[in-house]
Amino acid sequence: MKRTPLTVAVVGFGGMGGHHVEHMEELTYFQVKGIQDIRKSQEELARKKGLEVYPDLSAVVEDEEVDVVLIATPNDSHRDIAVSAMRHGKHVICEKPVTMNAAEMEDIMQVEKETGQLFVVHQNRRWDEDYLSVKAIQDLETIGEVFHVECRIHGSRGIPGDWRQKKAQGGGMLLDWGVHLADRQLQMFDERVTHVNCTFQHIRNMEVDDGFRLMLTFESGKTAYMEVGTFNYIGLPLWYVNGTQGSAVIHSWDMDGKVTRLETDREPDARPIQAGAGLTKTMAPRFDDGTVKDLPLPRIDASIEEFYDNVYQTIHGEESIIVKNDEVLRVMRLLEKAFESVEKMQTVPFE
Ligand code: NAD
Repeated sequence: MKRTPLTVAVVGFGGMGGHHVEHMEELTYFQVKGIQDIRKSQEELARKKGLEVYPDLSAVVEDEEVDVVLIATPNDSHRDIAVSAMRHGKHVICEKPVTMNAAEMEDIMQVEKETGQLFVVHQNRRWDEDYLSVKAIQDLETIGEVFHVECRIHGSRGIPGDWRQKKAQGGGMLLDWGVHLADRQLQMFDERVTHVNCTFQHIRNMEVDDGFRLMLTFESGKTAYMEVGTFNYIGLPLWYVNGTQGSAVIHSWDMDGKVTRLETDREPDARPIQAGAGLTKTMAPRFDDGTVKDLPLPRIDASIEEFYDNVYQTIHGEESIIVKNDEVLRVMRLLEKAFESVEKMQTVPFE
């Protein structure tokens, strides 16, 4: 059935604002009318694309044709833009991290409740195939019960030299990639997080973290480790997963990796091996003894279009929203604990 498109105005027409516009051009049910940006260069770019250019935020939120305001500005401005848009009767799609902290997200949720508008955060990395493959391994118990997950994002170019290096604008890798990674771990493990430990790396940036290591301990003792590095000239695998009956590895976004599963309860006695300057029996490999089998990674056919589709359907009362605001708020609270852990240089309790 043909859908009546929702009219969208994009606030912040930089990298991510442009990306949303491209996506929405492909979808027939969102129509981008115009943009607002503080940079002349971006206004020019928008005009060339045939988009309207709003002089300021008031002009955006007062445009009666606009149904949805999409926020893709630096992180410190999200709360105020969202509140203004909802108070003017607009629905809001907001980039991550939703806000600078949990209190700002609580403000947004209060206004969402008062106005009845939809506010949703673009947690697009819930649709990454590598994550969905790991989640399938967990859900299908391919390697038994998953008890430890590691996710690493490694690059070697440092932080781009813009607002991402400024604390006041919500820079740093914990608020950037950390939001995605923590959000996904909370989706994977349906449990209380009892402890949070985080350390920051400051290789070239003293003001914000240019890398972090974050460890969550869940109520059952299961653990999730997340690491982001921007000075890793050799990257470690994206995912490493341990279950009671096997392990899995995903090396990169190209989905190269494998699952190794224990095939038997019989454990033949291991022969000690020479390891470095010593002997080890505990760490002896399995020498093709048939007790384990390699399997391909599960491939998941997912598309980020589901996010946009779900927003459209939710606005029309036909679905409930996938990315829930209380989940987003929980991630912001968790990140606050991570910052606290860095400051105190110790593990801190959470839920
Ligand atoms: P960017 O610097 O490329 O673009 C931001 C744009 O906002 C710029 O054009 C800037 O001129 C404009 N701007 C700044 N303040 C403004 C204001 N008050 N009003 C209007 N325009 C303003 O940054 P980006 O990479 O596009 O990041 C924007 C947001 O998107 C951030 O919140 C970031 O975390 C998020 N992001 C999300 C993903 C994702 O995968 N979901 C990826 C990248 C960025």
